[in-house]
Amino acid sequence: MHFLITQNVDDLHVEAGSRRVVQLHGGNRVVVCLDCGCEFARAEVERLAALNLSFAEPSDFVVPPCERCGGVLKPAVVFFGESLPPRKVAVAMEHVDEADALLVAARGDALASLKIDATCGATLSAAADAVRSARSPA
Ligand SMILES: [Zn+2]
Repeated sequence: MHFLITQNVDDLHVEAGSRRVVQLHGGNRVVVCLDCGCEFARAEVERLAALNLSFAEPSDFVVPPCERCGGVLKPAVVFFGESLPPRKVAVAMEHVDEADALLVAARGDALASLKIDATCGATLSAAADAVRSARSPA
């Protein structure tokens, strides 16, 4: 596989070993400042829990500000109603344009040359096994 484009936001593909990945909807291990656009590892912002040790009422909740500009932080994921980041869409489209073939494990039936009507897990596992078998001599 040359490149992976996903809507997944929990880094499962990277954890599984994929290195050439675009997460169209972002990743929830990163937070972004809505004011300056700076991104931080979510683990660095885990001070949220420390700021809210005695959290009792919603009005008491303290959100940590951006360490750079004091702005509002949010998970670096595309929420419902938001647009996809244009840069990520452009990168994904470049790879689609360069591809000889696409494997789509979601909607896209109307555009498919071949449709396999089965679960993604079983089908992709069988395909991976077939590729491994074809690569390793018996
Ligand atoms: Zn900021």
